[in-house]
Amino acid sequence: AAEKPKKIIVGTNATFPPFESQEKGELVGFDIDLIRAICEVQGYEVEIKHMGFEALIPAVQQGKIDAAISGMSITEERQKVVDFSDPYFNAGLIIAVRNDNTTINSTDDLRGKKLAAQTGTIGAAYCDRVKEQDPSTVVKHFKDIGEAFMELKKGGVDAVINDYPVTLNYILTTEDANIKMVGEVFSADDKYGIAVKKGNTELLNMINEGLKKIKENGTYDKIYQKYFQQ
Ligand code: GLN
Repeated sequence: AAEKPKKIIVGTNATFPPFESQEKGELVGFDIDLIRAICEVQGYEVEIKHMGFEALIPAVQQGKIDAAISGMSITEERQKVVDFSDPYFNAGLIIAVRNDNTTINSTDDLRGKKLAAQTGTIGAAYCDRVKEQDPSTVVKHFKDIGEAFMELKKGGVDAVINDYPVTLNYILTTEDANIKMVGEVFSADDKYGIAVKKGNTELLNMINEGLKKIKENGTYDKIYQKYFQQ
């Protein structure tokens, strides 16, 4: 009898285009194509599940999902509780403000302002650090980054701190976004990785090997072109 194909379940928070989002009920994005390509080249089936960003790491730890891919930055804190694949994308953070804002031009100008970010992200952690330095800073956390941009647009906050490629995508694809990016990309060594349960070296090796293969055979470049070089 033919061997049953191996299958993994991968979690993602599909509110973060161009990495993951939902279009007509379908999961789409760079991360979605990437994990599918890795599994395909390695002879695995993959089922992708949408869940809250903050639920991803606990779900990996509890074995409810085998892996998480979600524009997730490899941080020391997260490395204490999950293992990460080799990095697959360089992101970094950027400040977004309303078009008419003239007072915020760099990270030096964030203290004492009203800031928004997505809950549980490195952008949110950055905002919290600004507040530690200047307690008059107001920090609002939102469940997804789209809500943070809405709050910025309507004047509820002065700036949104978020991953550069996602903020750029929001500005490029949203009509009347009324939002601009200011300053330099910071945390520029920020890299995305795929999270697996601590000690699951079999799966980690499968993913790293697959990632290497799709980088060598041109598939990674094709996926990159599809989402970042229109
Ligand atoms: N890269 C950021 C982080 O890992 C944001 C990820 C996300 O919102 N999907 O914290």
